[in-house]
Amino acid sequence: GQAGTLRFEESARQIAENARFIAGGVNSNFRLGMAPGPLVFERGEGAYLIDIDGNRIIDYYCGMGATVLGHTPAPVLEAARQQAEKGILFAGQTPIEYEAAKLICERVPSAERLRFGSSGSEVAQAAMRLARAATGRRTIVKFEGHYHGWFDNILWSTAPGLNAAGPEDVPTPVIGSRGQDPQAGEGLAILGWNDLAALEARLAKGDVAAVLMEPAMCNQGAIAPVPGYLEGALAACRRHGALLIFDEVITGFRLARGGAQERFGVTPDLTLMAKAIANGFPVAAIAGRADLLDLFADGVLHGGTFNAQPIAMAALVATQKLLTPAHYQRSSAHGEALQDGIRTILAEAGIKAQVAGFPLMFHVAFGLDAPAQNYRDVARSDKVAYGRFAHALLRRGVRVLERGAWFVSSEHDGAIVDATLDAVRGAVTEI
Ligand code: PMP
Repeated sequence: GQAGTLRFEESARQIAENARFIAGGVNSNFRLGMAPGPLVFERGEGAYLIDIDGNRIIDYYCGMGATVLGHTPAPVLEAARQQAEKGILFAGQTPIEYEAAKLICERVPSAERLRFGSSGSEVAQAAMRLARAATGRRTIVKFEGHYHGWFDNILWSTAPGLNAAGPEDVPTPVIGSRGQDPQAGEGLAILGWNDLAALEARLAKGDVAAVLMEPAMCNQGAIAPVPGYLEGALAACRRHGALLIFDEVITGFRLARGGAQERFGVTPDLTLMAKAIANGFPVAAIAGRADLLDLFADGVLHGGTFNAQPIAMAALVATQKLLTPAHYQRSSAHGEALQDGIRTILAEAGIKAQVAGFPLMFHVAFGLDAPAQNYRDVARSDKVAYGRFAHALLRRGVRVLERGAWFVSSEHDGAIVDATLDAVRGAVTEI
């Protein structure tokens, strides 16, 4: 695999064959794209995925950021297996969901209360509804390049295929999909992220219900807030009567156990979680101030047949028990060694790049002189070269998102970091 010779013919064959039954052969548009085409996997094993061509691939997608403990953590699998034997779905409450809720409320600073759901997209909808109910206002501020799910009222100026438009401080909203209701974007104000003056100016109009943001921008790169930005955004929201919502669907349980809000010491009014919360089992949560969450028991509707699915709740509890300070210390050391290694290899090859982000999530942007601070910066990076790099890595057995971050799990140990760096050394010769 080190010479860049992996082949993916059986994946290509099965995708083509099954496009007869599944649109495009995939069940999420985000699984399209990426040369040489979507892959079909037989199973996972720690940090590895084994595809149907028999390739053993080091995986940095990590379930789009979900599998922070790798693909097969034994205690999580065992907890799910034991819970499954008790039955599948009761349309009632279970002790395991109470245990799960208590754990999350203990760990996430803003979480006084919560509600569970099944996907990040859904709980983003719930948060916007709560914010509008609580404030009596309509406008939700959203930022270029930030992603909060695929629904009509929020899929604006975001991936996939975003091209920023208009002036940087007052962007023109860009619709996300054919068939999307163009009027559904009327409840949004789109701004550039990491620009406090622009946010302050928009809030001053007095019509903003909530400011919704990824507290670190993860859907286009892996970009930290500039110093003071989160604190300033919170203070500005307070001054103008708006709520602050952190979408921690990616940052939660990854930047720190308590998410970006713990890492940066800024507590929002509401928080969205999903992905790593249960290491890839379908769980999401909306959490926050008790008075806001209690609106769900007072006329604000939130439903879902699969909410707090017991098997997923058992997986959540087992996952959280493994997310110890030692986990973060060990995994972070490996993530940092990997980033240092990539930086050195790129520098020695004379390739201009920024390797930036956090220990367990980072991005590589070619052609930039300084770290990106927002979507427009990322858009200026050389994405064609990065696409070639990602494909060259895959042919060497290392799978990274063609656009977006590298996700590091507890299974990416020293040996896997070394193997990855060997692949990086080979791949840079192709860009
Ligand atoms: N918010 C963020 C920050 C995300 O990254 C995602 C998914 N990539 C979502 C929300 C939507 O989550 P889901 O795919 O579970 O609906």
